[in-house]
Amino acid sequence: MKVTLLAYTQPVINEPALAADHNTATFLIEGISRAATHQIVRHRLASVSQESQRYVDLDKGGWGFIMPPAIAANPEARPILDRAWEDLTAAYRALRALGIRKEDARFLLPNAAETRLVLTMNFRAWAHFCWMRCDRAAQWEIRAVALEILRQLHALAPGVFAELAATFLDSPQPEHHP
Ligand SMILES: Cc1cc2nc3c(=O)[nH]c(=O)nc-3n(C[C@H](O)[C@H](O)[C@H](O)COP(=O)(O)OP(=O)(O)OC[C@H]3O[C@@H](n4cnc5c(N)ncnc54)[C@H](O)[C@@H]3O)c2cc1C
Repeated sequence: MKVTLLAYTQPVINEPALAADHNTATFLIEGISRAATHQIVRHRLASVSQESQRYVDLDKGGWGFIMPPAIAANPEARPILDRAWEDLTAAYRALRALGIRKEDARFLLPNAAETRLVLTMNFRAWAHFCWMRCDRAAQWEIRAVALEILRQLHALAPGVFAELAATFLDSPQPEHHP
């Protein structure tokens, strides 16, 4: 997973409430699963641009899969997922070889399919996102994204993100797995 700050407005307003409303940040988030982006795009105040599976070409090594760490660390579970992904990749290629369009062949792609997206929000909406998604109740992948975004936003505008940083960055919460 990689989070890159693509653009932001430089806060020149010292009042945190005003700065939260009138400043924005845009992040490129890469190397995450469709399972994670499905959750991210639920944040309705964001402007979102996401890579389309209609255009990514498997033959060019276009997409991969995200392996959950808990499965990667389990020597019995990992081969099950590896095998499933090999089977899916073979099935995808077989459909394409039959002339099936990418927009239809993608129907067999799993939640693990790797993707990337660009997200823009104002600081108030980012703060809401971080309150919801840095919490240990959030899924591990979106939580890792949110914690990295919070780190970068706090560096940009410490006044706006001070309480969030104190809550989630200064004393990290343990992982929670339902
Ligand atoms: C731990 C966790 C578990 C979750 N589990 C599920 C689940 O099982 N199933 C599921 O469907 N979702 C689930 N969600 C997603 C959740 O329900 C929200 O869709 C998501 O967190 C977006 O939050 P939001 O709606 O508050 O904020 P955003 O969409 O980011 O909006 C921010 C705020 O703006 C305001 N706002 C935005 N749009 C409107 C509007 N149209 N009208 C009025 N006010 C608006 C609201 O005050 C809102 O809180 C989960 C989220 C978390 C954090």
